[in-house]
Amino acid sequence: MNVLVIGSGFSSLASACYLAQKGYSVTILEKNAEIGGRARQLKKDGFTFDIGPTFYWMPDVFDRFFNDFGKSPEDYYKLEQLNPGYEVFFGEEDSIKVSSDFNEIKETFEKEEKGAASALQGFIDLAEDNYNIAIKDLVYKPGESPLELVTAKTVTKVGQFTSTIRTQVGKKLTSPKLKSILEFPVLFLGAKPSNTPGFYNFMNYADFKLGTWHPHGGMYMVIKAMEALAVELGVKIETGANVIGFEFEGNTVKSVQTSTKSYTADIIVSGADYHHTETLLPETFRQYKESYWDKKVFAPSALLFYVGFDSKLDKVSHHTLFFDTPFDDHAYEIYDKPNWPKKPLFYASFPSITDDTAAPKGKEAGIFLIPIAPDLEDTPELREKYFDMIMTRFESLTNQKIKEKVLFKESYCVNDFKEDYNSYKGNAYGLANILLQTAFLRPKLKSKKVSNLFFTGQLTVPGPGVPPSLISGKITSELVEKHFKI
Ligand SMILES: Cc1cc2nc3c(=O)[nH]c(=O)nc-3n(C[C@H](O)[C@H](O)[C@H](O)COP(=O)(O)OP(=O)(O)OC[C@H]3O[C@@H](n4cnc5c(N)ncnc54)[C@H](O)[C@@H]3O)c2cc1C
Repeated sequence: MNVLVIGSGFSSLASACYLAQKGYSVTILEKNAEIGGRARQLKKDGFTFDIGPTFYWMPDVFDRFFNDFGKSPEDYYKLEQLNPGYEVFFGEEDSIKVSSDFNEIKETFEKEEKGAASALQGFIDLAEDNYNIAIKDLVYKPGESPLELVTAKTVTKVGQFTSTIRTQVGKKLTSPKLKSILEFPVLFLGAKPSNTPGFYNFMNYADFKLGTWHPHGGMYMVIKAMEALAVELGVKIETGANVIGFEFEGNTVKSVQTSTKSYTADIIVSGADYHHTETLLPETFRQYKESYWDKKVFAPSALLFYVGFDSKLDKVSHHTLFFDTPFDDHAYEIYDKPNWPKKPLFYASFPSITDDTAAPKGKEAGIFLIPIAPDLEDTPELREKYFDMIMTRFESLTNQKIKEKVLFKESYCVNDFKEDYNSYKGNAYGLANILLQTAFLRPKLKSKKVSNLFFTGQLTVPGPGVPPSLISGKITSELVEKHFKI
């Protein structure tokens, strides 16, 4: 049976690999010239940047993916655990490094607040329990029914679905710095800590206990690994194949049109943004109205800069967060009253600190990310204004000259997300994981209106992030198998 997979992001590549392994004949259709979707790579003047994801968290999920094919990540790329995992700046030369060793993290917490080490231990024990329930089991469910969430273990956790990360952390600690470190991981889920169920504290276990890793060569090496695996399994990959429509017989897709060609298909799996895929269908076959999407809480978009520096920088770590301004004000401007933030938090990654492939010798590669509300106005002037703003802050927070070291910068923002990925409102990370957008409450993996159309990726189950995208590809392939046995 013939499957066409739209897109070549993590979720599409994962579903293609699983489907090929099950015996389907799989072709990937990717609109862009390169594969990888949001995880593509930018190369310039000897510098190499990951365009999208940079944090390799939950290594067990990557292991599980490759193990499913009798492989391991090390068959394809070299992994290194970062120490510190990351560093957080709170003011001028005032930062906390989050060690790769949990006992050292506890010492750091205790120094900051008396009693914080044991509070943290209790919090992480709970988070570990949730991680084991969530990642080993729940997130691999297809989100077809609420009953999937009801197990002997989860019934004891109901309170954690109604409480939030914000309240949980607030009960354990008083130091604003420590609280913001514990609230940081849920930002990957795309929502505010005050709107994210406490159960998601399993992200803190992933952070402090499973660690932050770096694939030598960058996150794009994971894409290359999956491409190699897909090709080994017989998947065909076509780039420059922009899907523009479908032909139907009844409620079944018979062929897929790209700008240049038509492809016949028995089954379609779309890993392109869910909303975009639905707009390619005649209205009668769309499951969700525009008003549905408009009411959803989307994860932020982002303004990104990829910067080549002409020498090494001081006093920063591979992953560095600049939390020197109030997070709640910035979050208000992302989620409540969408606007360009007055004093944004920002994140920076300097992969060349640990990876010599990221920059020429003696130079530094910097990736800067400011989370912003989706669909904001995006102009060259605004990009410039924010570049200057964060470089000025970066200089004063780390007390060093930065601007004069800039060799070049490239930027990426809302308009690029729309143009490159057909992303709804230019979102960067998909649909947020708030309570009402969890599991069976997310857009479905199988179309209710088109008999042979399936979805995968960060707008469906289980949610945003690279590990969830790998999982999404797997569960979609299982649904395909359930409905279309070979
Ligand atoms: C800036 C940024 C930073 C991030 N940081 C992290 C991080 O540190 N760690 C982490 O785990 N996650 C991170 N994420 C999230 C993670 O990258 C995403 O959740 C994941 O890559 C999404 O994969 P996907 O397969 O769902 O979608 P995508 O990667 O968007 O893939 C969709 C694909 O569909 C293609 N497509 C769209 N329309 C068509 C069409 N009509 N025809 C053919 N092809 C089409 C697109 O070109 C694209 O290749 C980050 C994301 C961004 C943007």
